[in-house]
Order: sequence, then C-alpha cells, then structure tokens
Amino acid sequence: MPLLRDIFIHLSENDMLNEATKKVGLRFGADKVVGGIKVEDTIERIKDLNDQGMGVTFDNLGEFITEKSEALQEKSNILEMIQAIDEHGLDAHGSIKLSQIGLHIDYDFCLQNMREILTVAKQADMFINVDMENYSSYDDTIRLVDTLKEEFDNVGTVIQSYLFNSREDIIKYKDMRLRLVKGAYKEAPEVAFQAKKDIDAAYMRLIKTHLLEGSGYTSIATHDHNIIEETIDFIKENDIPEDTFEFQMLYGFRKDYQRNLVSRGYRVIVYLPFGKDWYAYFMRRLAERPQNINLVLKGVTRD
Ligand code: FAD
Repeated sequence: MPLLRDIFIHLSENDMLNEATKKVGLRFGADKVVGGIKVEDTIERIKDLNDQGMGVTFDNLGEFITEKSEALQEKSNILEMIQAIDEHGLDAHGSIKLSQIGLHIDYDFCLQNMREILTVAKQADMFINVDMENYSSYDDTIRLVDTLKEEFDNVGTVIQSYLFNSREDIIKYKDMRLRLVKGAYKEAPEVAFQAKKDIDAAYMRLIKTHLLEGSGYTSIATHDHNIIEETIDFIKENDIPEDTFEFQMLYGFRKDYQRNLVSRGYRVIVYLPFGKDWYAYFMRRLAERPQNINLVLKGVTRD
C-alpha cells in the first residue's frame, strides 16, 4: 500500500486542509481515533475509558507551531486539561510534544513552558510524559528532559527502539519512568535501524532491560500482539511486579485487545488525542495503516 501511504502523508501536510478542518468538528470518522475538540467532550471520553478499567494519557493535538503566541495557547489548553482531570478526579496523565510548546522557536521559552506545566501537574499529583519526536529534535529533547528531571519527579520520556542511541539511553534512564516504542518517524540509516526485524529485536531488548534492570516504571506502547505476549511471558518468568509496568495503545486501535488485556488483569493506558488540530493526526494514522480507511467510509456514510 505504499501509494496510499504517500497520499495520506501528503494530505496530512496540506496547509489549506489543516487550516480548513480546524474550523469544523471531527469529520470522516475521526471521532473513532480522536477524543474530542473541546476539553469537556474529551473529559467524557476519559470517563468512559476509566469506566472500562483503562487509564488515559491525553495529547493536545497541535501542528506547525512557529509563533510564540500559538505555543502559549497550546500550553493553556494543556493546563486547562490538567485542571479538568484533577477536578473530575480521573485516572489520566499528560503526553506533551515539545515542538508544540516552542522547542523549534526558542529552547528557553520551551523549557519555561514545561516547568509551568510540570508545576501545575505536580499540584494535581499528575505524571507528564515528554513524547519523542523526529531525530532532528532528539538532542534538544534529551537536554531539556535532563534539566527537568533534576527539578521534577513527575516527568518521564520516550525511547524509540529504531534509534541506535536507544542502547545507551535505556541504561542512562534506567531509574526513570519510560515509555518504550518502536518509533514513528522516517529516520536515516546512519542513526536508525530500517528493517522491521531489527527494530522489533531492539524493542524487545529495551523492554526486557528496563523491566529487569531499571528501577523506573515501564510503559510498553505498541499494538503488536507478538511483542505484548512475549513481554507477558517474560514478566511471568521473572516475577516482575504488576505495579511496575503498563501497556499503552492509541485510542480506537485494537479495542478488543485492549479490553482483553484489562480482563487478564493488566494495566492499560489509552493515548487519547484531542483538539481542533485533529486532521493531520488522523491522516497520519491512515497512512500508517491504510486498513483504517474503513473508519473514513463508516464516517462518511454515517454523516
Ligand atoms: P507495528 O510494527 O506497526 O505492527 C506490528 C504488528 O502488530 C502488525 O504487523 C499487526 O500484526 C499488529 N497490529 C499493529 N497495529 C494494529 C492494528 N491497529 N490492528 C490490528 N493489528 C495491528 N512514536 C514515537 O516516535 N514517539 C512517541 O512518543 C510515540 N508515542 C506513542 C504512544 C503510544 C501509546 C503508542 C501506541 C505509540 C506511540 N508511538 C510513538 C508510535 C510507535 O513508535 C509506532 O510507530 C506505532 O505504535 C506503530 O508500531 P507498533 O509497535 O504498534 O506495531
């Protein structure tokens, strides 16, 4: 399906469509993978998921942030969500993309924004994850996380198994709460594995290392049942305590499997995006897995 993938990537990068879709509600079945446009609607989705025994990590959608005023608006959306979760007493934490709050505008401005977010989150007893974006942001993200982890105990980050650096990072961050992923961006062969089998093997090594040798909490974020079932076997063989790890999946993906894991007693966290910038996120999910086109078809026929 490489052609379809390219079409959806192209659509996700179309400025005119990104702008136009901000003005309308969720369309084309995007509500199957996005929690809502407004905080109030998203809070209802979080309640639904909590009622099904799942925790949530929210993601305030936002793309192409190049102005400080926009980054400040995104920060206030995030703060509003943290406060709403706290007021409703929900089981949810935050995932933040640094590019959204100014990493590509001014490093110190971004650092200040993160300090504010972490301070408010701390008052709400909430953990905040710094998502890992593409490799061009890697050095600044790591520098910022290293600074923040000296000041806050409610911050963690992500390690992408496709990066060669992940071998050192998993040791460096062994005592930190980490989300482990395969990696979502297209990276150069000089810095990242390209073959699925190498990425999967590196991923399994990271998971086992952090579960066994790290003292930090482990979030295993994947839809890959082979990886999840191998992890569960490893956890049983090594008596890994159940309160030291969780599985994470995107909202709307493999819902039966999410419920299956909950019914087997495992903690499942759903990554729940929300906000008016739903369009590019939705197109990228379609690009990753064109089978999801049926979400679009269902959305079109229903509307
Ligand atoms: P894949 O390698 O895509 O799939 C492996 C196999 O799993 C498939 O062959 C298929 O058999 C099965 N499968 C996969 N998806 C489905 C499905 N929808 N339905 C049925 N079967 C399926 N990446 C980053 O770079 N930075 C981040 O901060 C980040 N955060 C993430 C947070 C969460 C909660 C999740 C779930 C992912 C995150 N990612 C992030 C994305 C991640 O890096 C991968 O790109 C993405 O998860 C796809 O890889 P996968 O591990 O799910 O499995």
